[in-house]
Amino acid sequence: MADALYKKLGLVNTREMFKKAVDGGYAIPAYNFNNMEQLQAIMGACAESNSPVIIQVSSGARKYANQTLLRYMAEGAVQMVRKDLKSNIPICLHLDHGDTFELCKSCIDSGFSSVMIDGSHHPYEKNVELTKQVVEYAHKYDVTVEGELGVLAGIEDKVSAAESTYTKPEEVQDFVEKTGVDSLAISIGTSHGAYKFKPGANVPPLRFDILKEIEKKLPGFPIVLHGSSSIPKEYVEMVNKYGGKMKDAIGVSEDQLREAAKSAVCKINIDSDGRLVVTGVIRKVFAEKPAEFDPRKYLGPAREELKKLLIHKNQNVLGSAGKA
Ligand SMILES: [Zn+2]
Repeated sequence: MADALYKKLGLVNTREMFKKAVDGGYAIPAYNFNNMEQLQAIMGACAESNSPVIIQVSSGARKYANQTLLRYMAEGAVQMVRKDLKSNIPICLHLDHGDTFELCKSCIDSGFSSVMIDGSHHPYEKNVELTKQVVEYAHKYDVTVEGELGVLAGIEDKVSAAESTYTKPEEVQDFVEKTGVDSLAISIGTSHGAYKFKPGANVPPLRFDILKEIEKKLPGFPIVLHGSSSIPKEYVEMVNKYGGKMKDAIGVSEDQLREAAKSAVCKINIDSDGRLVVTGVIRKVFAEKPAEFDPRKYLGPAREELKKLLIHKNQNVLGSAGKA
């Protein structure tokens, strides 16, 4: 096997993390980052709650923050965790929603320890072919690969769909065998963004029946849930109280995520909740201290609140706290 750059950076792939999480009945948090404050909050929260963590970069983040800068921020974050926070938590650097072989290859070559190739919007055979191509390259460097079957509703960067198409349990075994993927993102009712369900109607539960079928076909195989923010009411209220207009924002209940985490679901992606908290706190500071103009005075409190939220997720939703 070729020398993997990520190992020199102190990163790990997802293999062992996922095995422990499936066996232990909890899920690893996958948090997206675009900027320094988010990354500090994620690392601080996971070091303090002693949780393994996947930090992930989307195409949108690469465009916003610059791919080279993000990559070195991740390297710096590992150093900060080891040297300053004195923590040995396993850290994985993951590409979220890679859409081409070239993008996945460039991330692997620059030190990512895990990549997602999302071919879910392609016809099945094309998805198999693309995923397999990425797996063959990634495994030469012991980088793990996440594939996806089924389409989530909602918008995440370029990936958007009006309606979700649930994963077909009859396809999963064939897909995993043909591609060699290490984990599989599935669609069972979660969706991207802060407006996951229509208001008024009963919030539809996740399709645990489909999850069970998938687990039967692939016993012990690592399953991933995207779009798993809960959109806590208190933060929506905070945004709206201080001039925001987030009407009818609804997420997946934490109870359901907790239940999912106990199954073969071993990676849960949470992004919108962090965005919500940061926005709420910044709005509050702006409303209460309109003369303030030092970004540290509003980004700082936002970072602190985000850290609190992530500790709560690790401890009370994913069950990953104390599992590093
Ligand atoms: Zn996603």
